[in-house]
Amino acid sequence: MAHPTFDTHTDAFEHRQFRDDEFWRQIPAWRDVSRDQFGDHLWQGKNSVRNLKQVHETLGDRIGQDLLQDIEAALRIAPMNIRITPYVLALIDWDNPVDDPLRKQFLPIASQMLPDHPYYLADSLSEDVDAPVPMLTHRYPDKVLFLPLTTCPVYCSYCTRSRIIGGSTETVDKDTYGANTERWEEAFEYLRNNPQIEDVVISGGDAFNMTARHVTHIGESLLAIPHIRRLRYATKGIAILPMKILRDEKWMKAFLDIHKKGHAQGKQVYIHTHFSSPQEITQWSADAMKRLFAEHVIVRNQAVLQEGVNNCEHTMVLLTKKLSTMNVESYYVYIHDMVPGCEHLRTTLKDGVELEKRVRGVTAGFNVPTFVCDAPGGGGKRNVASYEYYDEENGISVWRAPNVKPGELFLYFDPIHRLSAEAQQRWADQASCEAMIRDAVTAVDPSLTEEHREKISKRLEIGVHQLK
Ligand SMILES: *Cc1c(COP(=O)(O)O)cnc(C)c1O
Ligand code: SF4
Repeated sequence: MAHPTFDTHTDAFEHRQFRDDEFWRQIPAWRDVSRDQFGDHLWQGKNSVRNLKQVHETLGDRIGQDLLQDIEAALRIAPMNIRITPYVLALIDWDNPVDDPLRKQFLPIASQMLPDHPYYLADSLSEDVDAPVPMLTHRYPDKVLFLPLTTCPVYCSYCTRSRIIGGSTETVDKDTYGANTERWEEAFEYLRNNPQIEDVVISGGDAFNMTARHVTHIGESLLAIPHIRRLRYATKGIAILPMKILRDEKWMKAFLDIHKKGHAQGKQVYIHTHFSSPQEITQWSADAMKRLFAEHVIVRNQAVLQEGVNNCEHTMVLLTKKLSTMNVESYYVYIHDMVPGCEHLRTTLKDGVELEKRVRGVTAGFNVPTFVCDAPGGGGKRNVASYEYYDEENGISVWRAPNVKPGELFLYFDPIHRLSAEAQQRWADQASCEAMIRDAVTAVDPSLTEEHREKISKRLEIGVHQLK
């Protein structure tokens, strides 16, 4: 009988190794920065890099003119501004920045960018459409998404909420807002009046950009609503500014008090975070997690599947196992949303289905992420393999969401540059685009009414533009 063989050479333990060297000293501006200073979250905030000039000043001769010009050209068309903590900037491999997974996420270069898909949408998930009151999306029966602020300690160039997050850019005018307790009252009132809601995702924006007082105010207001049983504070912070967990005693006390208060009431108060590649994980992250674990705070991770960042088996397995080692539960891996400015980072749906097969089984099932596609048009998160129909040739998948919008169909599209030359030609022509979509939709539901068909094309039409 054949037995499984297990790889026991040292690489099999790669996930237990956490980088602890003084990696920031490779950056000219921070050559003399001590470990203590680098570990100060306030120093990190003050020294965050927010524009091209600061990128240049910080990196000095570690960055070439070509790359600087490439970034400058990207920032002219990108929907997101840049904001990068020294921690993240120093984790980029400046010997090969073009291929670096962190550089790709936070510092776009024009030579890698691609025209947006014809059916991209600024609000791809229809969060604004499904909002009964400002800052609150109520799509699922018993859970809501609350967006109390729209700033973050770093800006991801692929942010799914680039329409509101991180301030206006040359191409996008945004109504970015900071934390404002008075403006949240309407959302709290809605939650008080809707007893079916049990679960609030406190996102944004980033909970790390709330003051301790804001964390307390939101927590106490929500815990006071009897039917609300679960809160999740969302922050990318553990991945990009773990120092705050270790040093910001005021913020931590505010969060831990809400966590304890919730616990005493039999309610969950947890954290959802966002690591996308193992390169973002160091001893700082492990130490931050050690503290949260000791306080019984569950942390779950939501990653985005991205070309050249994590769309390979080795990287995704390593990410999953490393998170597991730190007691972070891998919750979701998202197929990339169809938002502007990140066509080059999207993968096909098939990539997601294939990777899921290769990740499942590598560690405890509760630490293996569910790969999901958040169906454009507000269908909600669906397991990648649960599509109704998938035309791989033309890159069109069709989805249903019985608990969210019963009877409706939703479409996701693979990036065109990944399709065959013939399929790419079909996508270049408006009439054949419409025909492909009609075929896909009819394959799922031949008896679709003309009214429903129109609803689908209307939803898609909003997005027919091209990035110049
Ligand atoms: C993701 C999301 C939620 C939470 O969904 P889970 O699957 O429970 O993580 C709630 N509301 C909206 C609008 C969301 O996008
Ligand atoms: S941390 Fe989240 S909300 Fe903030 S820019 Fe990144 S993806 Fe967007």
